[in-house]
Amino acid sequence: MAEISVCRQCRREGLKLFLKGDRCFTDKCSVERRTYAPGQHGQGHKKLSEYGLQLREKQKVKRIYGIREKQFRKIFAEAERLKGVTGDNLLLLLERRLDNIAYRLGFARSRAESRNLVKQGHITVNGASVDIPSYLVDRGDKIDVKENSRKVPAVVESVEGAERRGVPTWLKLNKEQLLGEVLDLPSRAQLTMPIQEQLIVELYSK
Ligand code: SF4
Repeated sequence: MAEISVCRQCRREGLKLFLKGDRCFTDKCSVERRTYAPGQHGQGHKKLSEYGLQLREKQKVKRIYGIREKQFRKIFAEAERLKGVTGDNLLLLLERRLDNIAYRLGFARSRAESRNLVKQGHITVNGASVDIPSYLVDRGDKIDVKENSRKVPAVVESVEGAERRGVPTWLKLNKEQLLGEVLDLPSRAQLTMPIQEQLIVELYSK
């Protein structure tokens, strides 16, 4: 079976980044089927330097959230500026992005799909249309699919699979009406993806 290009990113990182929607939850997932990195040298065991590990971790997080380098640096700078632990702040800023929240609620099958949904104006925050994927959502915000967008096939299909993919406990989804709510902002412990954000903090501290 032909491999999908984004799946190479997961094999490169050696873990599931959930970039391909429903396919990620089937046995077609490339990470489930192969355990080595892509490319002809992928099956070797190359030991990374400390710097290499830090770079890889940053790359992994950028891939998970679909963020480019320049924007990632801006988010990191904001994480440093905020009170508290920089690594925690970084992950929270990424999680609070509207495209991530719409994905977490199940309105889209991947963050890439969610980003398009937001850009195309299908999402509202507290009743107002917001088409900026990086918009930061807050505790208590209501994130809905616009009434006239509720029949968009990609949204309907995605929401059908939302429970299987799992909606986080800090969000609430009304599946019938495609209404979402941020009950709380997540703690670090609630973000269960295998991310070592401290490596990224060390990278930028050099
Ligand atoms: Fe592809 Fe999804 Fe599996 Fe990653 S997790 S390899 S994107 S199917």
